[in-house]
Amino acid sequence: MSKEFNIVKKLSPNITKGRNGWKPDMIVSHITEGGFNGAVSWLCNPNSGVSAHFVVAKDGKITQLVELTDTAKANGTSVDLKGKNPKMHYSLSTLSKVKDRKTNANYYTISIEHEGFSSEANGRLEPKQLEASIWLHKYIIQEVKRIYGIDIPLDRNHIVGHYQINPVTKPFCPGKNFQFDEILNSLKNDKVGELIKMELAKWQEEMGIKSLDSLSKKKDNNRNPIVNSPDTWKETLAENVPQWLFWSIIDRISK
Ligand SMILES: [Zn+2]
Repeated sequence: MSKEFNIVKKLSPNITKGRNGWKPDMIVSHITEGGFNGAVSWLCNPNSGVSAHFVVAKDGKITQLVELTDTAKANGTSVDLKGKNPKMHYSLSTLSKVKDRKTNANYYTISIEHEGFSSEANGRLEPKQLEASIWLHKYIIQEVKRIYGIDIPLDRNHIVGHYQINPVTKPFCPGKNFQFDEILNSLKNDKVGELIKMELAKWQEEMGIKSLDSLSKKKDNNRNPIVNSPDTWKETLAENVPQWLFWSIIDRISK
């Protein structure tokens, strides 16, 4: 993962400690409808009562307000149609997981606020901000795997917008031009890259073993084995040189 983005922590008091027994498997994007500093201070102000795990500025700055293991107050759903927030009821969500879980969606989500106004460009992120958001999505996915052992599925049921959770109260959050497809494509490409790397490593090992095998059967002009103890060579080399390459070259030269 590239290291060009940093996360600065400034923890908000507007949280619920822990996740009420749930594990996070959804990343929810928002738009702040305001500037970066104003958003950060509002989300940290006890009077607002709201928060988000992260805020991403237009210039790519990232501030973390809530620990991943705690519940942010960003995109909750109500559980009582006759209670005080019937328009936020879970049954109104367009996501089947939100409907099925019948609880406050804040418990199993991680929220990212993006600096901007939905009216500005219909939520379209600026290039640096988009890059930062993609980087942050990858960071969150890694951390959720490390902390909870959960692989967040790379689809639009798990990489979502606030409007999918609260379609009645937040239809424009983060806006219809928000780059969900670009974010998802980048996340998927990373996954493919990982699989290719794993396949390549397997192939390299097989190549190395084959080369080593054929090499140990070779004899020099005096009928002595060219490699007396392949294992010793292997140990000496350790991880310093890609072994398969080394052995393949030796194999070619000694033909
Ligand atoms: Zn929102």
